[in-house]
Parts: sequence; C-alpha cells; structure tokens
Amino acid sequence: MDIAALNSTKILRKHVLKWMCLFFGLLSFIFAVFNLSKNHFYIVGGLEVCFSALCFYIFIQLVKNKQRNWYAITVCMTVTLVILCGTFLAPLKNGLFLWAFSLPILYYLLLGRKYGIVLSATLLVMQSSVLLYKLPSPYFSSFNLALNLLFIYIIIWVISHVFEGNRAEFSKRLKNLALLDPLTGAGNRLSMSHYFEVEIKDKSQLYLFLIDLDHFKQINDEYGHDVGDKVLVELATLFRITFAKGYVFRVGGEEFSLMGNFDSAQSALAMAENLRQAVANKYIEANGITINLTASVGVVKYQQQNLAELIAQADKQLYKAKDAGRNAVFSDINLCADAA
Ligand code: GH3
Ligand code: MG
Ligand code: MG
Repeated sequence: MDIAALNSTKILRKHVLKWMCLFFGLLSFIFAVFNLSKNHFYIVGGLEVCFSALCFYIFIQLVKNKQRNWYAITVCMTVTLVILCGTFLAPLKNGLFLWAFSLPILYYLLLGRKYGIVLSATLLVMQSSVLLYKLPSPYFSSFNLALNLLFIYIIIWVISHVFEGNRAEFSKRLKNLALLDPLTGAGNRLSMSHYFEVEIKDKSQLYLFLIDLDHFKQINDEYGHDVGDKVLVELATLFRITFAKGYVFRVGGEEFSLMGNFDSAQSALAMAENLRQAVANKYIEANGITINLTASVGVVKYQQQNLAELIAQADKQLYKAKDAGRNAVFSDINLCADAA
C-alpha cells in the first residue's frame, strides 16, 4: 500500500491550493488589467496584480513540490483582503462583493474546520460592515436582497463546515483502519513503515525493540484462542504503558515491535529490560484462568539502515535470546563505542 495515501488530507489540500492559485492568479490578472486600463481603479488593480503574482509564485512552488505551511493561510488572507478592499473601493454595481461567497469553501478546504469557522465568521462581520457602510446604494438598498445575500452566505458556510467535518472524520477513520491492528489497537506493519519513513524525523537516537512472546502457542493449545487473544490485548496495553515515550506495533501473531528515541544505549537497554520484566511480572486473568508468561527481546540501534535491515538485525538478536533459553534481552549495541 502507498504510505503517502495515508496523508490524504495533506494531499487534498495541496491539490486544492495548487489549482486555486492558478485559477485565482489568472482571474486576478484579468481583473487587474481591466481595473487599471478601463475602470481606473488603481488601488484595487494594484492589489489584484500583487495577489496574482503571489498566486503564480505559490502555484510554481507547488508544481515543483515545494510546499510551505504559510502558503494556504497567506492565499486565504490575501484573497480576503482583495475582496474586502474591492468591495469598499469599487462601486457595488460591479458586484465584486459577490466573490465573498466563494471564500468559506476555500477556507475550509485549505485550512480545515478550526480556521474555517474563524475566518468565515470574521469575513461575515467585516464584509457586512463594509456593505452597511456603503449603503444606501441604489443597487443594494432592498432589505430583502440583503437578507437573501446573508442567508446564501450562511448556507455556503454551513455546507462547507459540515462537509469538511465529515471529510476529516472519515479520513481519520480510514487512517485508523489502515494503520491499527484491530485486535490489540497497536499499530500494524504499515503503520510501522509510516512512522519510520514519515513521522520520526530525527532518527539519530532511534532504537528498535523486537519482542516475541515465549511459548505462546501453548497458551492457545491449552486454554483456547480466546484466552490467547485476551493475553495479546493485555500485553499490547502493557507495552504502551511501559513504553509510553515511543510507538508500539504488532508485527506478527505474537510479535511486537517498539520504536523510540533514547539518550543513550544504556537507557535503551534498561527499557528493554523493563519490558521483559513487565511481561514476566504480569498476571493476566482470562476466563477464570491466571496466565503468566515471558518474552524475548532483541534490541538494535538505527544506523542509517532501511527498515527491513533494521528489523532483520533485531530478529537476529531476538533469536539469540530464544536460543539462550528465552525470557532474555539480546542486543548488538556496543556500549563502549556508543559512550565514545
Ligand atoms: P517461541 O517461544 O519459540 O516464540 O514459541 P511460540 O509458541 O510463541 O511461537 P510459535 O511461532 O510456534 O507460535 C506462535 C503462535 O501464535 C501460533 C499461533 O497460534 C499464535 N497466534 C498468532 N496470531 C494469533 C492471534 O491473533 N490470536 C491468538 N490467540 N493466537 C495467535
Ligand atoms: Mg513466540
Ligand atoms: Mg513468533
């Protein structure tokens, strides 16, 4: 599966921003030419030229795949400014104020619900103030017309709000479905790749712990699969609590992989020992039976390997722990080299 697809919101916003910039850039340029040459609205025309240049700049950057956080908010703020100034400076009969109706959709699609609600409300107050200031106007004097315009704006706002809320919720649910192991709620293999490739930016002190439960098959054989499942759920929770500063993934039937940053090899190895002891000291109640089991742990440090290599290395250590009789921590970390 394509890991990038998990960031669907980011991708959607980037596409919307890119094509909006092209569209607004062209449109604003045409309006600017018209306002400067025919209408002689120099301030509005000047603003439109600046806005058009900004849009083209951002469009080109996005085509080159150079995304910056400030692009979306800047486009939203500047287009709002252009429309508010245009409404204030140009005669109402030109209808420039009507562009305000497109903005709630833009805010929600580019910035999400939080910014969407704040900016839409701000625009409503500011645009209404400008329009009221400009009244009475022969083109905009009817109370009914004002009321209709207000309701159209509110309807567009509400639709944008509900749409973005649902879209964000479904995107989150789909992401959870794709990334979480349904039994234990721990991350799955795809999730591990996602965190390793995308989320964990600084890997200089990253350690990977591979944990395999000892003789787990016996639990299934003796007490049944349900009891085995309950043990897996309880231990996943135990790992999440003990390893609160890192990520927990279930990468096989009774195999977990934990990733996290540690200040030193000593503290990483101490954590591995904590995890081993936590399992050994845990008594799990399931169907009236108390289960106690052990786990073997392999630990490795990230040293520019790819994820498959890192796991293979940890697997080697894990099997050394199994060969040594289980309920043990093994690692290839050289403590002297690490301290130096
Ligand atoms: P070792 O100490 O060598 O790791 O022995 P083991 O018995 O843990 O290892 P083995 O690989 O032989 O057995 C793993 C077992 O995990 C086999 C399978 O029945 C069980 N298992 C895998 N997935 C699940 C699951 O989702 N639920 C339950 N209850 N059991 C599972
Ligand atoms: Mg096992
Ligand atoms: Mg196993």
